[in-house]
Amino acid sequence: MRILLLGGTTEARELAGLLAGEHHVTTSLAGRTRAPRWPDGDVRVGGFGGVDGLAAFLRAERIELLVDATHPFAATMSGHAVAAGALIGVPLLVVRRPGWSAAPGDEWHRVASLAEAAVTVRTHRWRRVFLTTGRQGLSVFAELDECWFLARSVEPPDAPAPRQLRVLLDRGPFTVDGERALLAEHRIDVLVTKDSGGSDAKLVAARALGVPVLMVDRPPVLAAPTVPTADAAAAWINETAFDQTDTGWSKP
Ligand code: NAP
Repeated sequence: MRILLLGGTTEARELAGLLAGEHHVTTSLAGRTRAPRWPDGDVRVGGFGGVDGLAAFLRAERIELLVDATHPFAATMSGHAVAAGALIGVPLLVVRRPGWSAAPGDEWHRVASLAEAAVTVRTHRWRRVFLTTGRQGLSVFAELDECWFLARSVEPPDAPAPRQLRVLLDRGPFTVDGERALLAEHRIDVLVTKDSGGSDAKLVAARALGVPVLMVDRPPVLAAPTVPTADAAAAWINETAFDQTDTGWSKP
């Protein structure tokens, strides 16, 4: 089967490896990271040019299955995948790792957006803030002159950024001991994170030290078949028979 895999995550890279040899897989990367970890199979880089551009690509490349394995917060790309798949009649499978759940001892404050996180930091008068929300979106904290920020990201953050900012360029994986040492060394008052799911080392460390967490909620769930891991996606693809009909491909 000819598969377009929308990537940018560990799951996408794992899935490309699992499908290699069995299917013709092209992974699509947005091109945000200068030195991405390269997956098996073909790779293309850069935006498609909206829903119409993606639909044109699906048609030109005779794609038979579209797999959205983007990050849970890449909501624009995921919305485009739903729309373009429906337009061309290409089935869509979504790979979404589960979000996190609070455990006993956690002090979590759920917020709907990064902007709400910034307001909440101010109202709680937290002063030393650890941001693990990626390089985009730092600008919403730029007005908080009273706070000191430690921001961890793979690439340097976009401007405008907070005045008192220390950037840590790193992409993990991170350990609980390492996260604990980081929180303690920088006397962090609050950790701000998106509900990305995956490794929870920073959340375990925050729980151990009694550091509150501002958890940014995920965008809405998509109306498409969804699996939680690369293994489950490979099983779904290999066990699902696809029928070609006049209106496209469908699962019988
Ligand atoms: P986004 O806001 O949903 O997408 C913005 C635009 O970027 C899309 O409309 C599309 O451009 C292009 N794009 C996004 N993902 C693409 C892909 N896999 N292949 C080709 N074009 C893509 O996405 P984002 O939040 O900026 O994330 C960009 C990439 O980084 C995603 O692939 C995602 O998996 C990865 N990532 C995101 C986060 C996060 O927190 N958002 C964290 C880790 C990794 P066109 O409209 O021109 O097609």
